[in-house]
Amino acid sequence: QEDQMLLSSALRFTSKVSSEIMTPLKEVFMISVTDNLDFDKLKDIYTSGYTRIPVYHNRKDCIVGIVFTKDLILVDPSDEIPVASILPFCSRSLYAAPKGTSLEKLLAEMQASRSHLYFVTEAPGAQVGRRLARVERVLGIVTMEDLIETLISIE
Ligand code: ATP
Ligand code: ATP
Repeated sequence: QEDQMLLSSALRFTSKVSSEIMTPLKEVFMISVTDNLDFDKLKDIYTSGYTRIPVYHNRKDCIVGIVFTKDLILVDPSDEIPVASILPFCSRSLYAAPKGTSLEKLLAEMQASRSHLYFVTEAPGAQVGRRLARVERVLGIVTMEDLIETLISIE
Protein backbone atom coordinates (compact mmCIF):
# COMPACT_ATOMS: atom_id res chain seq x y z
CA GLN A 1 0.00 0.00 0.00
CA GLU A 2 2.62 2.48 1.13
CA ASP A 3 5.02 1.34 -1.56
CA GLN A 4 2.30 1.85 -4.11
CA MET A 5 1.62 5.35 -2.89
CA LEU A 6 5.29 6.25 -2.94
CA LEU A 7 5.67 4.82 -6.40
CA SER A 8 2.67 6.65 -7.81
CA SER A 9 3.75 9.95 -6.29
CA ALA A 10 7.28 9.42 -7.60
CA LEU A 11 5.87 8.74 -11.05
CA ARG A 12 3.78 11.87 -10.86
CA PHE A 13 6.90 13.75 -9.82
CA THR A 14 8.85 12.62 -12.84
CA SER A 15 6.07 13.58 -15.22
CA LYS A 16 5.78 17.15 -14.00
CA VAL A 17 7.72 20.23 -15.07
CA SER A 18 8.85 23.37 -13.23
CA SER A 19 6.08 25.69 -14.40
CA GLU A 20 3.40 23.33 -13.04
CA ILE A 21 4.54 23.60 -9.44
CA MET A 22 6.02 27.11 -9.31
CA THR A 23 4.76 29.96 -7.19
CA PRO A 24 3.66 32.39 -9.94
CA LEU A 25 5.43 35.73 -10.17
CA LYS A 26 2.38 37.75 -9.15
CA GLU A 27 2.37 35.91 -5.79
CA VAL A 28 6.08 36.31 -5.17
CA PHE A 29 7.13 38.84 -2.57
CA MET A 30 9.93 40.90 -4.12
CA ILE A 31 11.78 44.15 -3.69
CA SER A 32 13.11 46.56 -6.30
CA VAL A 33 16.75 47.33 -6.64
CA THR A 34 15.74 51.02 -6.29
CA ASP A 35 13.74 50.57 -3.06
CA ASN A 36 15.11 52.29 0.00
CA LEU A 37 15.45 50.14 3.10
CA ASP A 38 13.56 52.47 5.39
CA PHE A 39 11.51 51.37 8.37
CA ASP A 40 8.37 50.57 6.35
CA LYS A 41 10.24 48.57 3.71
CA LEU A 42 12.13 46.54 6.32
CA LYS A 43 8.89 45.91 8.14
CA ASP A 44 7.26 44.68 4.89
CA ILE A 45 10.16 42.32 4.36
CA TYR A 46 10.15 40.89 7.88
CA THR A 47 6.38 40.52 7.99
CA SER A 48 6.34 38.74 4.62
CA GLY A 49 7.82 35.81 6.53
CA TYR A 50 9.99 34.68 3.61
CA THR A 51 13.65 33.79 3.95
CA ARG A 52 14.62 34.62 0.38
CA ILE A 53 13.54 37.87 -1.27
CA PRO A 54 14.08 38.23 -5.02
CA VAL A 55 15.29 41.64 -6.17
CA TYR A 56 14.03 42.98 -9.50
CA HIS A 57 15.25 45.72 -11.79
CA ASN A 58 12.65 47.91 -13.56
CA ARG A 59 10.34 45.02 -14.41
CA LYS A 60 9.21 42.39 -11.97
CA ASP A 61 10.15 39.65 -14.40
CA CYS A 62 13.78 40.78 -14.48
CA ILE A 63 15.61 39.48 -11.42
CA VAL A 64 19.03 40.78 -10.47
CA GLY A 65 19.52 39.35 -6.99
CA ILE A 66 18.23 37.45 -3.97
CA VAL A 67 18.48 38.93 -0.50
CA PHE A 68 18.22 36.76 2.59
CA THR A 69 16.12 38.36 5.28
CA LYS A 70 18.69 37.49 7.89
CA ASP A 71 21.29 39.53 6.01
CA LEU A 72 19.27 42.66 6.72
CA ILE A 73 19.54 42.55 10.49
CA LEU A 74 22.37 45.07 10.57
CA VAL A 75 20.68 47.56 8.27
CA ASP A 76 19.86 50.77 10.09
CA PRO A 77 16.38 51.92 8.95
CA SER A 78 17.23 55.56 9.56
CA ASP A 79 19.99 55.36 6.92
CA GLU A 80 17.37 54.47 4.28
CA ILE A 81 20.00 52.85 2.10
CA PRO A 82 18.94 51.64 -1.34
CA VAL A 83 18.75 47.90 -2.02
CA ALA A 84 21.31 48.43 -4.81
CA SER A 85 23.97 49.35 -2.29
CA ILE A 86 23.68 46.10 -0.32
CA LEU A 87 23.45 43.79 -3.35
CA PRO A 88 27.20 43.59 -4.07
CA PHE A 89 27.83 41.85 -0.76
CA CYS A 90 24.39 40.44 0.09
CA SER A 91 23.05 38.88 -3.06
CA ARG A 92 23.20 35.11 -3.44
CA SER A 93 23.85 33.28 -6.66
CA LEU A 94 21.02 33.29 -9.16
CA TYR A 95 19.91 30.15 -10.90
CA ALA A 96 17.17 29.62 -13.42
CA ALA A 97 15.38 26.77 -15.11
CA PRO A 98 13.34 26.95 -18.33
CA LYS A 99 9.63 26.45 -17.77
CA GLY A 100 9.68 22.93 -19.20
CA THR A 101 12.43 21.60 -16.91
CA SER A 102 11.49 18.26 -15.34
CA LEU A 103 11.30 18.14 -11.55
CA GLU A 104 13.82 15.35 -11.56
CA LYS A 105 16.34 17.58 -13.31
CA LEU A 106 15.48 20.55 -11.11
CA LEU A 107 16.04 18.50 -7.95
CA ALA A 108 19.42 17.34 -9.21
CA GLU A 109 20.39 20.93 -10.09
CA MET A 110 19.30 22.28 -6.72
CA GLN A 111 21.44 19.68 -5.01
CA ALA A 112 24.44 20.34 -7.23
CA SER A 113 24.26 24.16 -6.98
CA ARG A 114 23.21 24.12 -3.32
CA SER A 115 20.72 26.85 -4.06
CA HIS A 116 17.21 26.16 -2.90
CA LEU A 117 15.41 28.77 -4.99
CA TYR A 118 15.26 28.62 -8.78
CA PHE A 119 13.61 31.09 -11.11
CA VAL A 120 11.38 29.59 -13.76
CA THR A 121 11.93 31.48 -16.99
CA GLU A 122 10.51 31.73 -20.45
CA ALA A 123 13.82 32.91 -21.89
CA PRO A 124 14.72 30.41 -24.60
CA GLY A 125 18.45 30.13 -23.96
CA ALA A 126 18.29 29.75 -20.17
CA GLN A 127 20.65 27.07 -18.99
CA VAL A 128 19.85 25.07 -15.90
CA GLY A 129 22.42 25.09 -13.15
CA ARG A 130 24.48 28.06 -14.37
CA ARG A 131 25.11 31.02 -12.11
CA LEU A 132 23.57 34.10 -13.65
CA ALA A 133 23.97 37.85 -13.23
CA ARG A 134 20.31 38.35 -14.01
CA VAL A 135 17.31 36.30 -15.00
CA GLU A 136 14.89 37.69 -17.54
CA ARG A 137 11.33 36.73 -18.47
CA VAL A 138 10.74 35.16 -15.09
CA LEU A 139 7.41 33.36 -14.66
CA GLY A 140 7.73 32.27 -11.05
CA ILE A 141 9.88 30.53 -8.47
CA VAL A 142 10.39 26.96 -7.34
CA THR A 143 12.03 26.16 -4.02
CA MET A 144 13.19 22.87 -2.53
CA GLU A 145 10.05 22.92 -0.42
CA ASP A 146 7.87 22.96 -3.57
CA LEU A 147 9.74 19.92 -4.89
CA ILE A 148 9.46 18.00 -1.64
CA GLU A 149 5.80 18.86 -1.33
CA THR A 150 5.15 17.53 -4.83
CA LEU A 151 7.15 14.41 -4.12
CA ILE A 152 5.32 13.46 -0.95
CA SER A 153 1.83 14.74 -1.79
CA ILE A 154 -0.87 12.10 -1.78
CA GLU A 155 -3.67 12.81 -4.19
P1 ATP B 1 12.70 28.55 4.59
O1 ATP B 1 11.70 27.46 4.82
O2 ATP B 1 14.00 28.07 4.01
O3 ATP B 1 12.84 29.50 5.73
P2 ATP B 1 10.64 30.06 3.21
O4 ATP B 1 9.68 29.61 4.24
O5 ATP B 1 10.82 31.52 3.01
O6 ATP B 1 12.10 29.44 3.40
P3 ATP B 1 10.31 27.94 1.32
O7 ATP B 1 10.16 27.03 2.50
O8 ATP B 1 11.49 27.75 0.46
O9 ATP B 1 10.25 29.48 1.81
O10 ATP B 1 9.03 27.90 0.41
C1 ATP B 1 7.71 27.86 0.95
C2 ATP B 1 6.74 28.32 -0.13
O11 ATP B 1 6.84 29.73 -0.28
C3 ATP B 1 7.03 27.73 -1.50
O12 ATP B 1 5.80 27.46 -2.15
C4 ATP B 1 7.81 28.83 -2.22
O13 ATP B 1 7.61 28.80 -3.63
C5 ATP B 1 7.19 30.06 -1.61
N1 ATP B 1 8.11 31.21 -1.51
C6 ATP B 1 9.43 31.22 -1.16
N2 ATP B 1 9.93 32.48 -1.17
C7 ATP B 1 8.90 33.30 -1.55
C8 ATP B 1 8.74 34.72 -1.75
N3 ATP B 1 9.76 35.58 -1.60
N4 ATP B 1 7.52 35.18 -2.14
C9 ATP B 1 6.48 34.33 -2.32
N5 ATP B 1 6.55 33.00 -2.14
C10 ATP B 1 7.74 32.47 -1.77
P1 ATP C 1 18.68 28.12 5.42
O1 ATP C 1 19.16 28.61 6.76
O2 ATP C 1 17.24 28.44 5.15
O3 ATP C 1 19.05 26.69 5.14
P2 ATP C 1 21.00 29.01 4.02
O4 ATP C 1 21.55 30.32 4.49
O5 ATP C 1 21.69 27.77 4.45
O6 ATP C 1 19.47 29.01 4.34
P3 ATP C 1 20.50 27.94 1.42
O7 ATP C 1 19.57 28.49 0.41
O8 ATP C 1 20.12 26.70 2.12
O9 ATP C 1 20.95 29.09 2.45
O10 ATP C 1 21.90 27.72 0.74
C1 ATP C 1 22.37 28.51 -0.33
C2 ATP C 1 23.84 28.34 -0.48
O11 ATP C 1 24.49 29.46 0.15
C3 ATP C 1 24.40 27.11 0.22
O12 ATP C 1 25.49 26.63 -0.54
C4 ATP C 1 24.91 27.64 1.53
O13 ATP C 1 25.97 26.86 2.05
C5 ATP C 1 25.39 29.01 1.12
N1 ATP C 1 25.34 29.97 2.20
C6 ATP C 1 24.35 30.15 3.08
N2 ATP C 1 24.63 31.11 3.95
C7 ATP C 1 25.85 31.59 3.59
C8 ATP C 1 26.71 32.60 4.09
N3 ATP C 1 26.39 33.35 5.16
N4 ATP C 1 27.87 32.82 3.47
C9 ATP C 1 28.21 32.10 2.40
N5 ATP C 1 27.45 31.11 1.87
C10 ATP C 1 26.30 30.86 2.46
